[in-house]
Amino acid sequence: MLRAVLLGPPGAGKGTMAFKIVDKYGIPHISTGDIFRANIKEGTELGKKAQEYMNKGELVPDELVCDLVKDRLSKDDCSNGFLLDGFPRTIMQAVELDAFLKESGNRLDIVVNIQVGKEELMKRLTGRRVCKNCGASYHIVNIPPKVEGVCDQCGGELQQRKDDNAETAENRINVYETQTAPLVGYYAESGALADFNGETSVDSLFDKIVEAIGE
Ligand code: AMP
Repeated sequence: MLRAVLLGPPGAGKGTMAFKIVDKYGIPHISTGDIFRANIKEGTELGKKAQEYMNKGELVPDELVCDLVKDRLSKDDCSNGFLLDGFPRTIMQAVELDAFLKESGNRLDIVVNIQVGKEELMKRLTGRRVCKNCGASYHIVNIPPKVEGVCDQCGGELQQRKDDNAETAENRINVYETQTAPLVGYYAESGALADFNGETSVDSLFDKIVEAIGE
């Protein structure tokens, strides 16, 4: 049983760690950003609403996101826990999540807070490439695929996220600092917070996270 949240600015490595954590602990990976992107691809109403905010690097309104997450957490596969990636992103979302878990007598086991400086974040975001098919994440310099433009895992085509251009990326970092960073204090008070230096290798960061969660 593991109920966990991944917290950290865009580009901190939340997606990369999420893939490894869910693989080890056998819990579902719930990325609100991925859910929105899938809805945009399918052209749903939710996708249309989310797209205008996402393209500018702004946050989708709390109510929309909270309803979506509560709905997802009510599914059977979350009965043994879950890993939230990119949610909550505001104090209101965090309060709603706590209240929702409390209804069934539960609470978060850990909030994994990955810290990375702004200069490094910009390099990571603008160089990031993501598999269109399976969502695996690469970097043109730091984690290049074996064949340029092709996913090592599934052979899918790699592309740059629309919101990873320099201007939108910078706005997303600023939005993180003003709206999401206050969650660090919120979760420190609740006792669930665990801080990690994200400016290290993928393996070393993952080992430290596993140490904190426990086998
Ligand atoms: P991500 O893939 O987590 O970087 O999210 C991409 C974009 O989706 C964000 O820049 C927001 O526009 C939107 N988004 C994802 N999760 C949330 C959330 N919890 N609250 C508000 N907006 C979100």
